[in-house]
Parts: sequence; structure tokens; C-alpha cells
Amino acid sequence: MTSYLDISTANAVLSEYGRPDGLSVEALMDEQISGGLTYNDFLVLPGFIDFAAEKASLESKITKNISIKVPFLSSPMDTVTEAEMAISMALMGGIGIIHHNCSAEEQAAMVRNVKKFENGFINDPVVLSPENTVADVKEIKATSGFCGVPITENGKLLGKLVGIVTARDIQFHQDDSTLLKDVMTTDLVVGQEGITLNKANDILCSSKKGKLPIVNKDGALVALLARSDLLKNQNYPNASKVDKSKQLLVGAAIGTRPDDKERLALLVDAGLDVVILDSSQGNSVYQLEMVRWVKSTYPTLDVIAGNVVTREQAANLIEAGADGLRIGMGSGSICITQEVMACGRPQATAVYRVSEFARRFGVPTIADGGVGNVGHIVKALALGANAVMMGGLLAGTTETPGEYFYHEGQRLKRYRGMGSIDAMGQTSGKDGNAATKRYFSEGDAVKVAQGVVGNVVDKGSVRKFIQYLVTGVQHSLQDIGYPSVATMKQAVYDGKVRFEKRTAAAQMEGGVHGLHSFEKKLFSA
Ligand code: GDP
Ligand code: GDP
Ligand code: 5GP
Repeated sequence: MTSYLDISTANAVLSEYGRPDGLSVEALMDEQISGGLTYNDFLVLPGFIDFAAEKASLESKITKNISIKVPFLSSPMDTVTEAEMAISMALMGGIGIIHHNCSAEEQAAMVRNVKKFENGFINDPVVLSPENTVADVKEIKATSGFCGVPITENGKLLGKLVGIVTARDIQFHQDDSTLLKDVMTTDLVVGQEGITLNKANDILCSSKKGKLPIVNKDGALVALLARSDLLKNQNYPNASKVDKSKQLLVGAAIGTRPDDKERLALLVDAGLDVVILDSSQGNSVYQLEMVRWVKSTYPTLDVIAGNVVTREQAANLIEAGADGLRIGMGSGSICITQEVMACGRPQATAVYRVSEFARRFGVPTIADGGVGNVGHIVKALALGANAVMMGGLLAGTTETPGEYFYHEGQRLKRYRGMGSIDAMGQTSGKDGNAATKRYFSEGDAVKVAQGVVGNVVDKGSVRKFIQYLVTGVQHSLQDIGYPSVATMKQAVYDGKVRFEKRTAAAQMEGGVHGLHSFEKKLFSA
């Protein structure tokens, strides 16, 4: 054996090995040798650290046209994503996809709620007239959550602005029948039509008022600005927003039936930014037709198609015009598809094969299902996914639908597969059931379950939980030695990021072991 005494030659000696330590991603994923892999079957080898973890950028595309700062999506499941979850996901820099196991009108109302949550110029503010009453303002507060209402002569937008009513004007007012002309403030600070958002915000700040009405040269109301939006922008600097309107980004899922076209029309009217065609097996004649129809009917609306796990499935959807692909079949935590249908693919292999193919066409991919911890997120990204979609990992947070309950001393919430008998049994208005459509089983006399119903523990607010996941991924990128998801992914394809398979014993070693008992607390905030 050669001995090398001069330390300075250590790096030079590395070249004698002919290849870097560990495996390239292609060698790792060689199915002839290792079969299909899951996230737990391998590790990423550490690299060289030369940056602070908090500087690592997670920015990523989720479709050809939409880029977000935190590449996380909440799954369109009825125990995961409704408006509250979608608002929080977008504020934290990710995006929520509203489920469709409800009527089209209910789903559109949820999309509208998310879009209304934060604004730059509010171009369609709620307006009243001087003849309306305090009761009318209280009614608006109860249904919409705000009560800063500009008052115009005719009670409409584009009417002449004569005053404003805000919370302070009515807070302690006992008589609900009082006319607004008797409580409104008439000494108004306004902005002129055509003003930039920056300038209007400056006036709003210096005026110390809560609202800034914008008027045209005739004094007619054209828009409104809210101080609370400046605070939201300050508190959530990474929020996923539409550049111009400053409204939060939101997605929604639909099926591929004719009535889903009517559903989509309502969602688009509510301001939808991206639609997901929700199917457990996306490579179907129905979905190809739907992708083409959506792209020709709404050319500016991005469509994420799926789910797929093979290159062949992906090729059809890419050709049809998909702007993004959702990857995963049978890897979800509540899912029994692989057991029942004999169909599916281990998720790490699925993510790698589809992403490596789709990137040649500039089509981003989303790894959906089976993400159980921070490490799984990093592995999905390293294998080529642009983002991850999570159901179970976000289930149990405060912002998910459903009530908490106690069982054996633990605070739990329900989490169910959309292919569970439970979810397939729910009626969703005239459109039938979204869950049965996802699994092509609406015509079956016997419903075959592809998912289960379960419970998950209380995880607290999703806003803190997402912050934990983000920080975790940043530290992982630091260990791997790349300051962004984009540079890490490129380095994987260039063979610079290396991998190692884990034997069953190695997996045990990588978990907590040898202790009598322990407490696993994931983060403190
Ligand atoms: P930013 O990174 O969100 O600040 O985006 P920009 O650089 O495009 O911001 C332009 C201006 O719009 C700045 O004055 C921001 O403070 C302001 N702004 C950003 N988001 C909002 C919002 O939701 N509402 C209002 N009123 N202003 C916003
Ligand atoms: P308020 O003082 O009770 O009006 O409520 P805030 O100013 O605290 O919150 C208003 C929030 O609702 C802001 O984020 C607005 O962008 C949003 N919003 C959406 N549509 C409207 C609207 O028509 N009128 C008002 N006042 N706010 C709206
Ligand atoms: P999780 O994050 O819990 O591991 O997986 C969530 C994903 O599982 C969802 O985004 C969806 O793709 C998939 N999924 C949801 N419900 C079911 C189901 O009942 N059966 C199957 N096979 N997959 C499901």
C-alpha cells in the first residue's frame, strides 16, 4: 500500500480512485441491481460547507410559469386543504390545493376567500351608501371579516366618495338602525387614480389611517388600500403572490368529467392560479382530452396533470400540454393502492425516472405522497422533483378541516384517504363524488377502497410547522454543500452529489436505537 506523508497531496490523491466516493444518481437508481427504491433506501453523502444554512434558497418552479419560494404544496384532500390551509401555505411561501370533494360553488368560495385575504389595490371593495345602516356594516363584518367600508353617494364603486366607515365608527354603537351618514368619517385622506402602489402605501403609512380610498379626478371611488395588507406583507415576506395584484396564489383540484368543465369555470371566475387534474392514474384518454381543453379554453391557466410514475405516462401528458406533473402512485401514508391494484411504483424511483424525463421538456414535477419527514423532502428534491406535495405530514395541524378529539390522552384529528370508503361515500352536490371519480369507480356497484381512514396527532399551527420544514431543508442543503435547490439538482445530474444505498441494518443504525425509552421532539419555536 502506498503511504502519503505529505498532507497537502491528499486532494490530489483522490484522482487516483478514478471516480468520486459513493454512487451517482444513475448508479443508485439502476433497477437491474436494486429494484425500485423508496426514500428510506438511500442517503445523500455530505459535501463541503461554505455558506450559512439560512442563506440557502428553496425557490423552485411548480409549473412552467409559476415559481414559489418554498417548494411545498398541501394536498387536495378533504382533511387537509380548505381555505384556511391554503392561506397559510401561501403566506409561508408554498401553495395550497383546495380539494373538490364538495360542490363547485363551495370550492369556488374557498378559492375566493384565499384570493381576498391579501391585496394590493382592492379593485372591487365592498361599498355602501349613506342611507345604509350600522346593521349592514355589522353584517359585512360577520360574513367577510372586515368592516372598513367606503361610502359613496349611490352605494356603488365608481360612485362619488362621501365618507368611510371603519371599526372605530361602529365598535361601541348600540343602535343598529343608525344611518351611516350619521357615523361615517368625512374628513378623508385619499389617493388619486393612477398612483403607484408604492406611493399609495407611503400615503397610507404617513396618514396613520387604516384605509386609503383611491378616487378619480371627479372624486369617484375606484379602489381601496388596507393598512393590514402592509403588515401581512411585512410579516410574511416569502408569501406566494401574484406580482401585480399582490393576492395570494391558490390552486384547486378537479376531475376529468364533463361537469368538471363547469366547475373549472367557477374556479377561474374566483381567481384560481393553477388547476390540478386529480386522478390516481393520470395516463387516460379523459385526462389527455381535459389537458387540451383547459389549455385551449384558459391559455393563461397552468395545468398540473397526473398522477404518473413512469416515463411513458409522463410523455402522453407532456405532449398534451401539461405545465407540471404530479408523481406518485400508492406511496401515500393512507393509501392501499399498491396492495389492492398491484399497480404503482416505489416513490424514489418514480420521482427520479419521471423528473429526469420531464426536465428535458422544461416541465416541473411534484413528488406527491410518502413524505414523512424533512429528509424525505430533501431526497425528493435531490432526485429531481421541483416540489413536494404533502397530506399526512400536514394533517393534524390547526389549519386543516375537522375538529380535534382526545383518544387515550392524546389530542388527535382525523386524516383520511380520498380513496377510502368514507371519503367515497360523501356526496358533493350535483357533481357526484370527487373521490370516486379520482379512482374511476363512480359506476361500480361495489366500491373498492384504495385508502384508509386514520388519526394523526395535533401538530400545532402549520405556519410554525412549515418554518420547521424550511429550516430543516436549509440545513440539509448546507450538509450536502449546495446553497440552493436548483444548484443541488444540477449537481446531482452532473454526478457531483453522491449517494449510498442503505441496508436494513444501516436503516436501523440511522434511527434512534439502543435506548430504554426516549422522547422525540422535532422542533422548538
Ligand atoms: P414585495 O417583495 O412583496 O415588497 O413586492 P414588491 O417589491 O413588488 O412591492 C412593491 C410595493 O408593494 C412595496 O411597497 C410593497 O410594500 C408593496 N406590497 C407588497 N405586497 C403588498 C400587499 O399585499 N398590499 C399592499 N398594499 N402593498 C404591498
Ligand atoms: P377592517 O379594518 O375591518 O376593514 O379589516 P382589515 O383592514 O384588518 O382587513 C381587511 C382585509 O380584507 C385586508 O387584507 C383586505 O385586503 C381584505 N379585503 C378584501 N376585500 C376587501 C374589501 O372589499 N374591503 C375591505 N375593507 N377589505 C377587503
Ligand atoms: P401522504 O402525504 O399522506 O403520504 O400522501 C398524500 C397523497 O396520497 C395525496 O396527495 C394523494 O396523491 C394520495 N392519496 C390521497 N388519498 C388516497 C387514497 O385514498 N388512496 C391512494 N392510493 N392515494 C391517496
